[in-house]
Amino acid sequence: MNHFENYCTQFVQSIGNKEGAVSPTITNSASFGYGTPEIAEGIFDGSIKKPLYSRMGNPTTAKLESIIAAMDGGIGAVATSSGMGASSLAILSLVSSGDEIISIGGLFGGTYALFTETLSRFHVKTSFFDVDELENIQNAITQNTKIIFLESVGNPNMRLPDIKAIAKIANDAGIVLIVDNTITPLSIAPLKLGADIVVYSTTKILSGNSSALGGCVVFRKIQEKDDKLKTPRYKDLHKIIDKAGKAALIPIAKKRALRDLGMSANAQASYQTMLGMETLALRLPRIVQSVATVAKALDAAGLKINHPSLASHPHHKRYVSDFQNGCGTLLTIDMGTKEKAFKFLNTTKLATITANIGDSRTLALHMASTIYSDFDTKTKQFLGITDGLIRISIGLENPQDIIDDFLNAAK
Ligand SMILES: *Cc1c(COP(=O)(O)O)cnc(C)c1O
Repeated sequence: MNHFENYCTQFVQSIGNKEGAVSPTITNSASFGYGTPEIAEGIFDGSIKKPLYSRMGNPTTAKLESIIAAMDGGIGAVATSSGMGASSLAILSLVSSGDEIISIGGLFGGTYALFTETLSRFHVKTSFFDVDELENIQNAITQNTKIIFLESVGNPNMRLPDIKAIAKIANDAGIVLIVDNTITPLSIAPLKLGADIVVYSTTKILSGNSSALGGCVVFRKIQEKDDKLKTPRYKDLHKIIDKAGKAALIPIAKKRALRDLGMSANAQASYQTMLGMETLALRLPRIVQSVATVAKALDAAGLKINHPSLASHPHHKRYVSDFQNGCGTLLTIDMGTKEKAFKFLNTTKLATITANIGDSRTLALHMASTIYSDFDTKTKQFLGITDGLIRISIGLENPQDIIDDFLNAAK
């Protein structure tokens, strides 16, 4: 049985109901009647497990959270209004003014802006490293470092991290490792590789159909003894950990971020995300196969393709050894100049020009004139954004149709 097969059973069985409505119920209510003041008191002190208010949790969203937590082997999850909401929730529940973050790889434009423009305003400082700068990463750790943040696949630079090696650095130093696994759900299991928290934009391949914006944060359980979260570095959290025990990262996220910042998921989006997830384990392996097929054909035709499945890619060996289930839906084409890139995008009949990725349809976007248009030259260089760079997210179409269309557009 291949790796993805396991999840087909898990998803359809856990999303559909055996009794009553088969499709998940959408609880479209912001608030919930408690019945009696005694029950209200119990809900607020946590002794009664019933919905309090949809900003803090909703039954439809709770079902989505349990499915994503099970997918990653986490103790629990908190769904959010967007992927940026998920990253913000995970980060803001851990940091205070004066703390430091080490960011490795990638980096998704919104996450880069969160670190450099927003968190910096609150005196949270981030330093950035390429995935292979392990020694520099090690040397950058200080007593104020609270988070090492890593993208499972560089978007759009397509560089692949040695996640185990980075997790070892984080664990040896006793620092929380957050992995943005948006591009590689099912393919990469960050918690099993030593990460503490996984963040997703569910807007992408998890939903797969552009119908709902969403995000999710998955947490590992806290160990009874010798957990890095119980060290003085994380003393702000100890009160909640003492009370909540092994699942404490969930109340930490809810009380230190979700409650006061309100990046909560809504029931309708959670429902649509579950519908998408029913077929995730079918869609992803097909696309992973198509990406490699398309990359190979376009590369052979002389186009400048960046994808780790190609033997010429600097991380090809790592792709073969550590990314046996692929590295998601992306590849990039460098057309050399903006003019040639625009001509390609104006000629392709198949690609939808949009900033999204991970859709059932093939999507494309010129990077320098869109997501990265505000970035200075040095930053663009670090992030691998060249003038002619087009990011492609391969969809479910017949790969030969994609190849034919792209070769025609690149003529
Ligand atoms: C899209 C994306 C995000 C942000 O997700 P939104 O749902 O758009 O807020 C974060 N990380 C990665 C890798 C992404 O691709």
